Amino acid sequence: MEVKVVLCNCKGLCPSYKDTDMNTLLFEVDSEMDVKYTVLNAQLCGQGGNEVLRDVLKSSNDGDTYVIVGACAPEAQNKLFKRLLRETGFDESRFIPVDIRNTNNEGVIERLRQTVEQLVAT
Ligand code: SF4
Repeated sequence: MEVKVVLCNCKGLCPSYKDTDMNTLLFEVDSEMDVKYTVLNAQLCGQGGNEVLRDVLKSSNDGDTYVIVGACAPEAQNKLFKRLLRETGFDESRFIPVDIRNTNNEGVIERLRQTVEQLVAT
């Protein structure tokens, strides 16, 4: 099982990210977790962000890779990325949206870690 982490910091303007340091978070996730890679985009639901996520999904549709997207509420992500999932044909059960708002780096890593543990347990 492989895990790719794609993070979004909501344009860098959202107060719900005020305690998160994106300059250090990517390295922390990469070094503290067993992931293939971690990338950040400033607006995954924007045009450029959609292209980044499209590339990740298209290159990950191997039946073994989970794509964890750390961004806004999972319900919102499911709506925002529904079309992208349909277009890429990515297995929706391997698209894992995680809410990373309103916490700090430690909290983000803990949420990501718990998510991976749940995937391993299933
Ligand atoms: S995907 Fe969610 S967190 Fe990212 S820019 Fe859009 S609304 Fe904000």
